Amino acid sequence: MTKLYLAIPCYNEEEVLYDTTEKLTKKFDEMIAQGKITPDSKICYFDDGSKDKTWQIISELHKTNRYVNGVKMSRNRGHQNTLLGGLMTIKDRCDCAISIDADLQDDINAFDKMIEDFENGSEIVYGVRSKRATDTAFKRMTAQGFYKVLSALGAEVVYNHADFRLMSRKALNALANFKEVNLFLRGLVPLVGFKTSVVEYERSERLAGESKYPLKKMLGLAWDGVTSLSMKPIRMITSLGAIVFCISIIILIYSFIVWCLGRTVSGWTSTVVSIWAIGGLQLLAIGIVGEYIGKIYMETKHRPRFIVEEELK
Ligand code: UDP
Ligand code: MG
Repeated sequence: MTKLYLAIPCYNEEEVLYDTTEKLTKKFDEMIAQGKITPDSKICYFDDGSKDKTWQIISELHKTNRYVNGVKMSRNRGHQNTLLGGLMTIKDRCDCAISIDADLQDDINAFDKMIEDFENGSEIVYGVRSKRATDTAFKRMTAQGFYKVLSALGAEVVYNHADFRLMSRKALNALANFKEVNLFLRGLVPLVGFKTSVVEYERSERLAGESKYPLKKMLGLAWDGVTSLSMKPIRMITSLGAIVFCISIIILIYSFIVWCLGRTVSGWTSTVVSIWAIGGLQLLAIGIVGEYIGKIYMETKHRPRFIVEEELK
């Protein structure tokens, strides 16, 4: 039997907490009765410095509900930091943790399959949405654009997977070795490796309240993802420099021909050629400097260079 902890970040979620807890309690009762999880499994809420009654409600639920635990962050630090902070706080108390949003848009009936995969040896199980029927057209388009732009810019993520995933204690301990502060968990978790699997589910609508992830925050998250995972934007500058430099050579040939034909004003050829050549060389130089800065950036993260999965002694 698996000792499961649910990891649930909450920011101003007073409207959904009672409903969420009721549904999760029912689910836990069922899973315990079926012998899938141990009776000391927990529903763990992480309060991300909410300004409403979220923490009061969590404290109250902790007293009245035997499953509910809580962790309060000192101030609002955003979803990713709160989730990581919470996971790191609980990692040694459980066999595995499933992270899920407080609004229960992700299907709690996927827990069973996730636990099953975990028991069959998966250290990380990704919840992946099969359809996006319930999202608004706008959310669907922006979210799909999000994955496309991310992968085009070199940040590898699991397609249509948000932060609904199971991680074993072993995977959480490996994740703890990633010391970076610019957090993008969806990109970081795949770097951990180990045996993984995918569980598909359908995403439903938010229980109540409104999305705490407006377009602005989503763009911020995407940008964090790109800049913390990939050096591709820097390489794009280098390529642009090379392209502009090539154009300058074409222009050089063209203006030389025009000059030979005597159809130019004096001074035109040298001016035009040098504008393109200098521009190209500058971009190229910035790109090369950027390449080194990128390397330094990656070094400063002190990511683990390897993670051992198994040993035979
Ligand atoms: N959240 C958080 N801190 C924040 C913003 C959001 O902990 O600064 C939590 C929020 O309470 C929820 C989860 O992150 O549990 C996802 O937010 P939401 O459901 O609003 O995002 P959406 O599903 O619209 O992308
Ligand atoms: Mg949501």
